[in-house]
Amino acid sequence: MATTLGFVGLGTMGAPMARNLIRAGFSLRVYDVNADAAADLGTAGAYVAGSPADAARGAAAVITMLPNGNVVEAALFGDGGAVEGLSEGALCIDMSTVLPSQTDAFAQRLAERGVQLVDAPVGRSSQHAVDGKLLIMAGGEQADVERARPYLEALGDTIVHCGPVGAGERMKLVNNYMSIALNVLTAESLTMAESSGLDPEQAREVMMGTVAGQGHMGTTYPAKVLKGDLTPGFMVDLAHKDMGLALTMAAELDAPSWMGAVAHQAYGLARRAGRGREDWTALYPTLRSLALDAPSRRRD
Ligand code: NAD
Repeated sequence: MATTLGFVGLGTMGAPMARNLIRAGFSLRVYDVNADAAADLGTAGAYVAGSPADAARGAAAVITMLPNGNVVEAALFGDGGAVEGLSEGALCIDMSTVLPSQTDAFAQRLAERGVQLVDAPVGRSSQHAVDGKLLIMAGGEQADVERARPYLEALGDTIVHCGPVGAGERMKLVNNYMSIALNVLTAESLTMAESSGLDPEQAREVMMGTVAGQGHMGTTYPAKVLKGDLTPGFMVDLAHKDMGLALTMAAELDAPSWMGAVAHQAYGLARRAGRGREDWTALYPTLRSLALDAPSRRRD
């Protein structure tokens, strides 16, 4: 007999994910506050439940794909919430993006009812959800992640077990911190090119040939700082000087340069820490010592 799964939250991401689970042979019980979204999945073969509790009834696992942590909390623990339908020993898999400390609290409340939580937020786009090619960052006990794996494999082509409960959400937020901030820097840089009278498409092509477009994680970091080598390829002092020049040019053009202004100060800090003649990737140990050696972190 097909394994039964509950699925709550049938929006941009959840609807195609639920369809992929049906396609993979699972028997689905779905719920969404938007009755039309649920009815669509009913047409695809799912049982349309009247509440999260009804969706969870008799299911080996309930999957939630909801807008934020408060909605997840309501869907799990509110009136008619999934916990009312989940049997002891069942699994809850939250694939929404939520605050990790909220995930930790959910895990504790679920454990009190004999239900284990795996947090499994996703990377990539809604098209990847349609294609079943999401990148899934899972957090939870090894045995629970292994129990979730057959379901997750119907949804994504890359499943990374990041650590205990909450580690998936932590990884997801670190990833999004970088990609969301890079978007601002990208927009600033192309705008600066255009404000300078350059062709932004040509600027994009030039930058794709350098670290600007290729990124540090695949180039300078593995070549230098991650190997413990801070002998300069390009010095902190020079990066500080060049950022100063770019900021002055931006000021002359009235072009936005917020991210660069912050970066200039960070390079200044590295210089004051005595790292001016080290490789520019020495920014990493500069920030690490600020964060990890902070008195609030010390246990002595
Ligand atoms: P969405 O707004 O399209 O879908 C959310 C669904 O939840 C809707 O169908 C809504 O009706 C339903 N819903 C709201 N409250 C509910 C409740 N109390 N009970 C049941 N259903 C309820 O959002 P989305 O784009 O599918 O995103 C879902 C999650 O995935 C979010 O946490 C988001 O951050 C994350 N995410 C989204 C993307 C993306 O590209 N859209 C990518 C990665 C991760």
